[in-house]
Amino acid sequence: MKGFLELGKILGIKIEIHWTFALLLIWIGLVEFENSGNLEKVIISQGLILVLMACVVLHELGHALMARKFNIKTNSIILLPIGGVATLDEIPKKPKQELLIALAGPTVNIIITLI
Ligand SMILES: [Zn+2]
Repeated sequence: MKGFLELGKILGIKIEIHWTFALLLIWIGLVEFENSGNLEKVIISQGLILVLMACVVLHELGHALMARKFNIKTNSIILLPIGGVATLDEIPKKPKQELLIALAGPTVNIIITLI
């Protein structure tokens, strides 16, 4: 996709990041540096953003793996500054499958929170 950088594949699913995500890191870095003037705090806040994005990837993988269970392929997981999107090949035919795929993402977040 245009404007996206491929980070690699997890379980055969392409992980892509939009270039505007770099702006988010720069912006957070500048704001933190202006507030604290401390480079260490800048690195910590940017690290937190990356950890947050890793959680978003896991959340989207939750959707993707549940979809895979119903034989629905996920083309890619894309990361935007506002969050992530798992692009499924098709919409599940059964409402119950759609519900389970929708619930799989937040379930991952609950598990991460418990850990
Ligand atoms: Zn979700």
